[in-house]
Amino acid sequence: MSTTLSIHNPATGQTITTLPAHSPEQVAELAARARAAQPAWAARALAERMACIRGFREAVLREQESLAQTMTAETGKPIRMSRNELGGLIGRLDFFLAEVQRVTATETVYDEGGMTEQIEHLPLGVVANISAWNYPWFVGCNVIVPALLTGNAVLYKPSEYATQTGLAIARLLHEAGVPADVMVCLVGGGDTGAALLAQPVDGVFFTGSVATGQRIAQAVGHRFIRLQLELGGKDPTYVCDDADPRAAAESLADGAMYNTGQSCCSVERIYVHESIHDAFVAHFVDTVRGYRMGDPTRDDTYIGAITRAPQLAVLEAQVADALAKGATLHCGGHRGAGPGNWFEPTVFSGVDHRMELMREESFGPIIGIQKVSGDAEAVRLMNDTRYGLTAGVYTPDAERARRLLSQVHAGSTYWNCCDRVSPRLPWSGHGDSGVGLTLSTYGIAAFTRPKAWHLRRG
Ligand code: NAD
Repeated sequence: MSTTLSIHNPATGQTITTLPAHSPEQVAELAARARAAQPAWAARALAERMACIRGFREAVLREQESLAQTMTAETGKPIRMSRNELGGLIGRLDFFLAEVQRVTATETVYDEGGMTEQIEHLPLGVVANISAWNYPWFVGCNVIVPALLTGNAVLYKPSEYATQTGLAIARLLHEAGVPADVMVCLVGGGDTGAALLAQPVDGVFFTGSVATGQRIAQAVGHRFIRLQLELGGKDPTYVCDDADPRAAAESLADGAMYNTGQSCCSVERIYVHESIHDAFVAHFVDTVRGYRMGDPTRDDTYIGAITRAPQLAVLEAQVADALAKGATLHCGGHRGAGPGNWFEPTVFSGVDHRMELMREESFGPIIGIQKVSGDAEAVRLMNDTRYGLTAGVYTPDAERARRLLSQVHAGSTYWNCCDRVSPRLPWSGHGDSGVGLTLSTYGIAAFTRPKAWHLRRG
């Protein structure tokens, strides 16, 4: 197990810093301290815990620019998008603060003839949060904030590609009054995550790849603790014959390429009705050609660095496979020149489901556009996947969109929009996209367990 963690800037290849990593013994010690500290945190009035999150919110706003720069340096995310993520976080915090009281209030569900029945919402206890790097503030805080508000202690293992952001989240929470033993940030890679799973936690909340999700399920499945897995996607969109090809292309190019395509809900497959296919592809390629790739600290950069160097080989393999099977390449298709990890925004048409590009998550700035003959074929292809995170339809016809999207297996559905997450709606996946959910009032309740009270007077 490594004793240090080196943090690199994926846009320059330079080492930013090297941090000591937590050893398994230190992880065990911190987990024991969290266990000891949790009851007092849960015993505090909800108003006190809410005040801490309000203080955290103020600190994020105060430090927004330097936090955005830290995130951009360690992930390669274009600075404009780092600022957007921090701005979006405020809306999520406001949602949790507005709803937590209602969701966790003890409910009287029956009260007759001297008999009262109540549901009390108790914290799970100590929860582990192991998380991804692509939206580190979102995926981190989707768990940390409702978990803390509902009285849990949190052992947080941020991605090794977003550790400085993870440490900043913990620091700001501590400064806002959350005790150090109640909010713990663990530094390290997958082995530190594995050491965390070995601790007697009451819940595991994971965001990351299917492969790691499967390992985590194997490691803790037999322990009957709360387990949530938010995994990858191969998110499809269908553009109907009555859609405006230019408007749909501009919207979907952004949905496919935003955050350099490194979003769990990036548009990953596009099906276009044959009658507007050629016009759609032309507008799509035009839009993508207008995206500037380069230094992510520049305000006008749209395509940033590929955060994890090994992903470059995945993207290259998908390009080679698509070309070998007869796809048409319109732009991109290659790594960009180093230093740093770069991949040109890449657009294919003439693709089909024999190609990896249409089957496996790309997680990069690359997209396949497939021509379809009508609604039935589009629905069949959208469902021809092991994933089920999001799916969309572009058409002016609301009834048609609802009919089509009702037939698609996905946790979130989009009509004339894409690559969108709302704090008010549950975020979940079907199939290999995971189990459980975050966000919405359900994503607050996920950190509690209901206790039943049967109370007879006299
Ligand atoms: P990853 O699976 O490589 O790593 C995720 C986390 O797991 C990291 O913190 C890593 O250190 C840790 N880890 C690795 N091996 C471990 C082990 N054996 N035991 C415990 N922890 C271990 O994923 P990633 O590259 O960080 O993230 C990209 C993936 O995340 C994509 O597939 C993306 O779709 C998915 N994602 C999903 C959502 C969602 O909401 N569904 C959101 C963001 C990202």
